[in-house]
Amino acid sequence: MKLCRYNDNRLGLVEGDHIIDVTGALAALPAHKYPAPRNDQLIENLAMLRPGILEAAKSGARLPLAGAHLLSPVANPGKVVAAPVNYQAHFDEAQHDDEIRHGTQIVKIQTIGLFLKATSSIVGMSHGVEINDIERRNDHEIELVAIIGKPARHVKIENALDYVAGYCIGLDMTVRGPQERSMRKSIDTYTVLGPWMATADEIGDPHDLNLALTVNGEPRQSNNTANLLVKVRELIAWASSYYTLHPGDVLMTGTPDGVGPVAPGDVIDARIDKLGAMKVNVRAAKV
Ligand code: MN
Repeated sequence: MKLCRYNDNRLGLVEGDHIIDVTGALAALPAHKYPAPRNDQLIENLAMLRPGILEAAKSGARLPLAGAHLLSPVANPGKVVAAPVNYQAHFDEAQHDDEIRHGTQIVKIQTIGLFLKATSSIVGMSHGVEINDIERRNDHEIELVAIIGKPARHVKIENALDYVAGYCIGLDMTVRGPQERSMRKSIDTYTVLGPWMATADEIGDPHDLNLALTVNGEPRQSNNTANLLVKVRELIAWASSYYTLHPGDVLMTGTPDGVGPVAPGDVIDARIDKLGAMKVNVRAAKV
């Protein structure tokens, strides 16, 4: 099942080049009084909602995907967990490009560990990326994103994929420089998620997916998730050994080689096997 959020917070089932409006299925979600839970209600209740979504799809309005404004497939992630240099080819290019490493030592992921991005940086593909400071180098990073489906704490590697609700494409936009990652990668619009979420059963093995990114049609990144240094199941087990992963938390698994700058006016095309493709416009932020 491919689920999108679109227009005015509507829920859609993606079928081919159409969306079927299944927003009515959300009525089954529990009501909450203040304070609302710090996780995503749709993702937490996805298994319960699934029959209602399929039922709603039988009579839901159909609209062309092309005309829809696609929002982040997860509305309220509690956190964005991200893996630094998790492909050998990106490790190698970062070692040799001082504009990427900025005088710092590129440390292996197994040593440096995972980092967090601010949830306020998240947008859907139709929003686009707003470059905060065009004088600096702002890079694209295409990444496979796993969306956590149930609370995970001290999860075993062999069971870790059972905790994944689904996957989407992520852009971990990055301003290069000497600052902390949590600052350089948390700028508003610097986490693009989309175009929709494909449930885990649609993807099967997440370690055999081609990912590719072009800018204005020019090939930049092309690799396969088979080359992840720390696999998705290992990332989940590792993260959960430090903190609880909650339904709706998103895990960005790292980018391969070919990262490079974008500027206002550019169009990023990011695609991953079985997940689809998203076109993301780049513009300057209003300050
Ligand atoms: Mn990244």
